[in-house]
Amino acid sequence: MNELPRIRLGALPTPFEPLPRLSALFGVSLWVKRDDLTGLAFGGNKTRKLELLVADALATGAKTLVTAGAAQSNHCRQTAAAAARAGLGCRLVLATADGAPSPDASGNLLLDALLGARVAWCTRAARDATLASAFDESEAAGERPYLVPYGGSNARGAAAYALAFHELAAQCRAAGVEPDAVVFASSSAGTQAGLVAGARLAGARTRVIGISVDEPRDVLRERVALLACEVADLLGEPLAVPLAEVAVEDEWAAPGYGVAGDAEREAIELFARHEGLLLDPVYTGRAAAGLVGLLRRGTWEPGATVVFWHTGGSPALFASAYRDLWGAPRP
Ligand SMILES: *Cc1c(COP(=O)(O)O)cnc(C)c1O
Repeated sequence: MNELPRIRLGALPTPFEPLPRLSALFGVSLWVKRDDLTGLAFGGNKTRKLELLVADALATGAKTLVTAGAAQSNHCRQTAAAAARAGLGCRLVLATADGAPSPDASGNLLLDALLGARVAWCTRAARDATLASAFDESEAAGERPYLVPYGGSNARGAAAYALAFHELAAQCRAAGVEPDAVVFASSSAGTQAGLVAGARLAGARTRVIGISVDEPRDVLRERVALLACEVADLLGEPLAVPLAEVAVEDEWAAPGYGVAGDAEREAIELFARHEGLLLDPVYTGRAAAGLVGLLRRGTWEPGATVVFWHTGGSPALFASAYRDLWGAPRP
């Protein structure tokens, strides 16, 4: 496998832990891969991708990272932190429903400011154009910008999750388990494409199941298959990835991006109250709702081994938009 240039941003390997009380509840052996603990400014899955992307930025002589996301983007917060760690500037383009700045700085947005990122605001529809003009402005100002793609999800960023699959496989061997499936939140396809490529390159029989957070199943599957091939090419191990082998579940995406409802709330409470494990309202709460749904419909035989890949996101728990999900503690 090709060695890709990489800088160290995360505390790796992240822990791989059993979930005994949730396992007892569902009759399946449940484990968690703790990428919420990558360690960079509250961690998350973008840290691994940024280890490769920032190495590339530094190799090309860039001085500023430019990227975009939603107002509560974990990707933008981790990019701002990675820029700080690497001694680079950071410009973020954040999208809101009406294009106006979010009225109060909470959750990830508070951290973006603390980390020193410059923020431009736009509507979702104007995101590509606003990102392009932020890049041009940065270039004109002599900042030597490097474009970090949405979600860090080009082949280079996604390759980090092919390497992460190997990390998990080694931990599984050490623990004497062979997962039947890994389940996680999937959105810009990078995490899933990397895991799909990693699993196939390792010859693992583990099913890689993405719970779509926002995209329709067919759109996301096609993106994953294409990107997984690009990852394998970049790693020097070309691979055919048949669409039929890419598993995406989209029924939990129906309420829309960032809308936390009863399914997310129930799943977040289950993980918190059985395992003391914190999920987030946008990504991992939805992925856990999908996992719980799949468990309840008997997707796996009793005794099967299923890994929930925790992708981070906890700062969004403190975003004002989600303040009323749980209310005050009960007396
Ligand atoms: C970005 C993100 C995801 C989705 O990862 P993709 O590689 O974009 O599919 C999942 N969970 C969290 C917490 C994220 O921030």
